[in-house]
Amino acid sequence: MDYEILINKDNLIQVDQLPKKLTAVGKNIHPTVSLDENETDDIMLEERAAYYFNQMVNDFNRTHKVQIVPESGYRSIERQRRLLKFYFEKEGEKAFDFVALPQTSEHHTGLAIDISLIANGKYQSKITGEEPEIQELMEICHQYGFILRYPKGKEDITGYTYEPWHYRFVGLELAKRIKESGLTLEEMKESEKVKNR
Ligand SMILES: [Zn+2]
Repeated sequence: MDYEILINKDNLIQVDQLPKKLTAVGKNIHPTVSLDENETDDIMLEERAAYYFNQMVNDFNRTHKVQIVPESGYRSIERQRRLLKFYFEKEGEKAFDFVALPQTSEHHTGLAIDISLIANGKYQSKITGEEPEIQELMEICHQYGFILRYPKGKEDITGYTYEPWHYRFVGLELAKRIKESGLTLEEMKESEKVKNR
């Protein structure tokens, strides 16, 4: 598995790039679109990403009252299609602003995870990025090989609005470099291309 893979609106995932081995990291308690009979309510991540995600969450939750919980992990191309259809029927053209086209979602890689918080036993449905726990997570996630994938102020480069809930496993080494440089994955890949030219 290429943990440094770049998937976005211009770089569609190919079938041979899909994750080979998925591991459950939690249960989907609020599925947006009802599950197919061949789908489980497990939230899945690629094997290695799952290992580091569990470590990060366990370390964090052990020392905090507010708990981090996974909300959405691996998504099949077919599921993304149904998600888009669901929102298109509900919201029309606007759906394209916040639901990625099939094959362009990072969630296909099994390396991306959306998280939420549980505070005082209550599930926080909307993460704003202002939560002290989320701000702390943004600071430490690189130690586990994760990056905040769609930061504030980088919308033009990533093609996504700020998503303080979406984290992406890129491996320990690249996560550290991205954290230190303040660059996005797009910029990092571009600078490597220039270097190798
Ligand atoms: Zn996401």
